[in-house]
Amino acid sequence: MPTLAIIQVGERPDSNSYIRAKKNFAEKIEVKVRHIQVPENIPQADLIQIIEECNADSNIQGIIVQLPIPAHLDRDTVINTIDPKKDVDALTVDSIQKWSEGEDILSATARGVRELLNYYKIDLHDKKVTVVGRSELVGKPIATMCKNEGAVVTVCHSKTVDLGAETKPADIIICAVGKPELIRAEYVREGQIIVDVGINEIFDESLENESKNGLKAESNKEIANDPMRRKLVGDVDFESVKNIVAAITPVPGGVGQMTVLALFENLADICSSK
Ligand code: NAP
Repeated sequence: MPTLAIIQVGERPDSNSYIRAKKNFAEKIEVKVRHIQVPENIPQADLIQIIEECNADSNIQGIIVQLPIPAHLDRDTVINTIDPKKDVDALTVDSIQKWSEGEDILSATARGVRELLNYYKIDLHDKKVTVVGRSELVGKPIATMCKNEGAVVTVCHSKTVDLGAETKPADIIICAVGKPELIRAEYVREGQIIVDVGINEIFDESLENESKNGLKAESNKEIANDPMRRKLVGDVDFESVKNIVAAITPVPGGVGQMTVLALFENLADICSSK
């Protein structure tokens, strides 16, 4: 049975829920997860030692450092400590170079998006794709994957002056920004396919009334932190675009699940290449 090590620094609620999803999936496919949780203030040298121990452990086939990690840790140094042969997230410099040249394994998010499009028989070859977001971890690997699949790719970012001028001509829009409901009806047109990678937690007024029953005088902070009043949304305003475009992925329940699947596909590739 393969083993995946997940190293978590601290206990961010979003990381907890991503790790829970990975553990649940692993259980279904009989992959063992070794969840190594360390304190938020761990010195970098200690974290590096833990990763090196996982590198050296022949019972562990894949290693993930759950991101983000606290600011006192240098992300690149930490990630590049992972043995590239165990890098299931494909985030080390070595892995990035390989997937940039078109080799698998890919970053899990990019692979998840590719799987999703393949499943629906959406061929990227010669398609105009606009990727909104250019981060090293998400936007960039997705753009590279699309180029490798033969798409004509435009990448937008926070300095893009006229976002609609870049999104409207596209056949496929892929959003990976982290801004709730940034892409609205005026940014899209009929016939487009929208892949929403963004996962954002927002305050939901409609849940407020349900949660408020029985509660008295609360501070704004208490209200904002009440999990009963928060919900997940993507980077796309689903309700305003769903009747215009040809297809759109929901949040939650869309790309997030594909990313988990892709991660374990990467692990399977690592195991089968031994
Ligand atoms: P990030 O590092 O903050 O990068 C955000 C990117 O969006 C940057 O390139 C930024 O541009 C760009 N951007 C910011 N505001 C913009 C605007 N108004 N218009 C156009 N572009 C804008 O975030 P990330 O780590 O890439 O994550 C992006 C989203 O994906 C988040 O919601 C995250 O939760 C989600 N995510 C989902 C999955 C999944 O499996 N579904 C996996 C990982 C992450 P600059 O480069 O100019 O700053």
